[in-house]
Amino acid sequence: MRLIFIGPPGAGKGTQAARIVERFEIPHISTGDMLRAAVKAGTPLGKLADIAMKAGQLVTDDLMIGLVQERIGQDDAKKGFLLDGFPRTVPQADALQTALASHNVALDAVLVLEVQDDLIVDRITGRRTDPETGAIYHMTFNPPPADVAGRVTQRKDDTEEACRARLESYHRQTSPLVPFYEGLGLLKRVDGVGKPDDVTARIQTALG
Ligand code: AMP
Repeated sequence: MRLIFIGPPGAGKGTQAARIVERFEIPHISTGDMLRAAVKAGTPLGKLADIAMKAGQLVTDDLMIGLVQERIGQDDAKKGFLLDGFPRTVPQADALQTALASHNVALDAVLVLEVQDDLIVDRITGRRTDPETGAIYHMTFNPPPADVAGRVTQRKDDTEEACRARLESYHRQTSPLVPFYEGLGLLKRVDGVGKPDDVTARIQTALG
């Protein structure tokens, strides 16, 4: 199964991706997680990415395409993968089509998790992550349990200002992927509003 997840920041892609990859036993390839690991490790890529990420801007297509081409060529991705956060621009989507064709494989579906803008800022600014397990919480909608609450962290780009920049970038640079994949007959729209379990059920229905 080769899947792509598209959706605005805070739509729940990370939460839902963790469930889907468990079900299909495929690797979860999150470019945001890969970049955050590079920032933490202080690699040259991390240094370049850090500036763009903090500002809520996209990292350049060249860097991202190289990173993903290398990742999907690894052994564990041969049986499939879920791409979360890539592609984010039409040039990235074009490069992915070329890379997949060169491996003689194709995408099975592109899921778009739809959440309207006025819900996004609250979702993002309340978001926290457990650094030990990677579990994602929300201080109001899904608070961490008492033994985890003391150690949760907030992403540097989960501020209101960076969130607004990310939302603007989503509409301008990423949303053209919706007609792109619709044209390829791969698009499945899923309502991302509601309880995580309900959204998971909708995704399962969409995937058939
Ligand atoms: P995410 O965790 O998917 O929200 O990504 C966090 C940040 O990483 C984004 O706001 C971008 O700065 C950067 N990023 C992640 N994936 C990409 C991509 N495919 N293209 C460009 N920038 C990306």
